[in-house]
Amino acid sequence: MTARWTPAAWRAKPAKHMPTDYPDMGAVERVEQTLRQMPPLVFAGEARRLKTLLGDVAEGRAFLLQGGDCAESFKEFHADNIRDTFRLILQMAVVLTFAGGKPVVKVGRIAGQFAKPRSEPVETVGDRTLPSYRGDIINGMDFSEAERVPDPDRLLKAYGQSAATLNLLRAFASGGYADLYNIHRWTLGFVGDSPQGARYRELSEKISEALTFMSAVGVTPDTQPDLRRVEFFTSHEALLLGFEEAMTRVDSTSGDWYDTSAHLLWIGERTRQLDGAHVEFMKGVKNPIGLKCGPTMEGDDLLRLIDVLNPNNEPGRLTLYGRFGSDKIADRLPRLMKATKSAGRSVVWATDPMHGNTLKASTGYKTRPFDRILSEVKSFVEIAQAEGVHPGGVHLEMTGQNVTECLGGARAVSETDLADRYHTHCDPRLNGEQALELAFLVAEKLKS
Ligand code: PEP
Ligand code: MN
Repeated sequence: MTARWTPAAWRAKPAKHMPTDYPDMGAVERVEQTLRQMPPLVFAGEARRLKTLLGDVAEGRAFLLQGGDCAESFKEFHADNIRDTFRLILQMAVVLTFAGGKPVVKVGRIAGQFAKPRSEPVETVGDRTLPSYRGDIINGMDFSEAERVPDPDRLLKAYGQSAATLNLLRAFASGGYADLYNIHRWTLGFVGDSPQGARYRELSEKISEALTFMSAVGVTPDTQPDLRRVEFFTSHEALLLGFEEAMTRVDSTSGDWYDTSAHLLWIGERTRQLDGAHVEFMKGVKNPIGLKCGPTMEGDDLLRLIDVLNPNNEPGRLTLYGRFGSDKIADRLPRLMKATKSAGRSVVWATDPMHGNTLKASTGYKTRPFDRILSEVKSFVEIAQAEGVHPGGVHLEMTGQNVTECLGGARAVSETDLADRYHTHCDPRLNGEQALELAFLVAEKLKS
């Protein structure tokens, strides 16, 4: 009999990518204590609802669309940015639903996606070396000594921003904005006059016609209130375990532990050690959870992690995000899919086509070529189909803003264009147009 799990059990395990250089660890404890008193951001019942929907994905009846910033920031916190990401997800979901004829489960990387694992603990600019930026919940991005010192007050600020973001998202989802009769109004300003914008308008015309037909036969928002709202869920990487622990509460209806900081939490590629702190924490919370699977993962590693993370083989509990790179996916993914399939493990198989396709442009910017991202998504769908596995979803870093962070796309962002609007706090994101283009291509691929 193993000892009872507690939200603090991770503290006895080795934890990678967590800050240990707070000037005053006592202050961190005090902030965590304050967070324990704060209201939950999400309810256990909502997390269970998402798990049920992901169970449909695991069984091939639905598709997962997950996306948002690589890292949210205090600086870019604005209602317009939240609205733009939200409507981009709605637009993409319309495209995918129409093509696939299956419901799309909508999950934002939002309202809590602040903490970042970094490949190097320090960063050198010129002759100065400082600790790396670790996300706004830990330290600041400006290249100065003061900013790079971890500050526990940032935990409270991140909590506050997450709460305000979630409040607006809930209002958008159920307060009328997401009404399917508003479909024409979801077009993002700068996307409107692009080829993707035109394609989207065509599609929304068809949907409007269908809605008119449905009203004529008696299916109206009065009989079908779901036409007026969407279900929208939040997610982030569960990296900063002190914060996650403080947000973990016993659900009064089931008696189970839920991490109430988001509906879905995932374990990153760099913190998926079987005996590590992150796996220890995540095994005990009942939320639906995710696991990134990179190029070094073998089938046995994956099955051992699944044994720990989803011991009862519950559909919807575990989503796997393959993130190999367009040049490695054909070699790596089939063996992992074979492993889960032959062992009879119920999982959602999704693709993160972003993190294996990052490179440095000659101009020094960290970027991602759109054609490699697309190529990884296409390979993912083909491999899944060949293995008899449902290609269950996509996990994207994207923004509704008109940024120039990834190369290519219909407007052919070039290496020299990157400097124009490169705003990300961490990894390069697809802009609204590139993301919509990707949705159309995925839709076509799923139909074929
Ligand atoms: C991320 O999703 O931002 C991330 C760090 O991904 P990965 O863990 O797959 O590298
Ligand atoms: Mn990232």
